[in-house]
Amino acid sequence: MLNRKVTKISYGSDPVVLEGTDSSGESFSIKGKKVLSTIPTGVLKTGTVEFDPPFSQQGDAGKRKQDAIDHLNPGQLEKIILYWEDMVEDEIFWAKDNVHFFVHVAEDETMQGNFTYWNNFHRQNGAPMLVAFVTGDYAMDIQDLTDEEVVATAVDRLRSYYEPDVVVPEPTHSHVTRWMEEETTKTIYTYAEVGGHPEIHSHMSEPLEGRFFFAGEATFERHLGTVHGAFYSGVRAAHLMLDKWWRPVVYEFLQYYFPFTSPYCRRLFL
Ligand SMILES: Cc1cc2nc3c(=O)[nH]c(=O)nc-3n(C[C@H](O)[C@H](O)[C@H](O)COP(=O)(O)OP(=O)(O)OC[C@H]3O[C@@H](n4cnc5c(N)ncnc54)[C@H](O)[C@@H]3O)c2cc1C
Repeated sequence: MLNRKVTKISYGSDPVVLEGTDSSGESFSIKGKKVLSTIPTGVLKTGTVEFDPPFSQQGDAGKRKQDAIDHLNPGQLEKIILYWEDMVEDEIFWAKDNVHFFVHVAEDETMQGNFTYWNNFHRQNGAPMLVAFVTGDYAMDIQDLTDEEVVATAVDRLRSYYEPDVVVPEPTHSHVTRWMEEETTKTIYTYAEVGGHPEIHSHMSEPLEGRFFFAGEATFERHLGTVHGAFYSGVRAAHLMLDKWWRPVVYEFLQYYFPFTSPYCRRLFL
């Protein structure tokens, strides 16, 4: 649904109806025989998309799905990208040649997740660029800070690691992601909360009424939270929508009992 935001999915009878707004704010309505949703868990939990009928009123499968949404949670993570445009090789102050990333483990527990992991992009593409990951509670805390405040904290943190031996200059460019605030993201990857059960992800993928299908990283048990999991979940859902349900079933069976055949199975059955 490019450049369109879905706000309601009515799937109780044929045809399925999608309603929402396009990028200019105009309302739209689309009818179809079947619908595939990859709406992330974090968005499902906010309730900004209305489902008619609500999952909780849609028999056992609907109740299982609502239970899965209630017991899955969106992981929290943001990236802070720092770039020093005019920095020449000799001025790069971090171990640029032989590490892909470095980790700083704070002794203070309240600082955990707070600029712990730094990705060295010089190793990837020669750019004088670091990307810091902030996770957990701290990823939520920075939502109340401006980009300037977040970048200043990142630079302070670097200075606390390296100075006074080396000088850490101000970055010339920076970017702070805001996935946790973004209305259509709200998730980095899903995790089951304590007490969640293994079937929870298959309940997320279970179709409703033979016309409402689900895919996305949270629905593919074998490769949760990954791009390839999300991709295969889409392929699996497409087979189900085309009534070729047996192909993903054969794939799952062979994957489970003969995991070494996995690459061939994927080509044959997905
Ligand atoms: C920092 C980071 C690093 C990662 N690293 C890796 C890695 O190394 N390897 C790996 O395999 N995976 C990695 N992942 C995970 C991977 O990116 C995700 O698992 C995957 O992208 C999820 O795909 P998806 O299709 O389920 O969801 P998304 O990619 O989030 O797609 C959902 C889509 O639904 C749209 N949408 C949401 N709500 C609406 C609405 N109301 N109306 C219309 N459209 C809507 C969104 O705009 C979006 O396009 C990483 C993720 C993060 C954040």
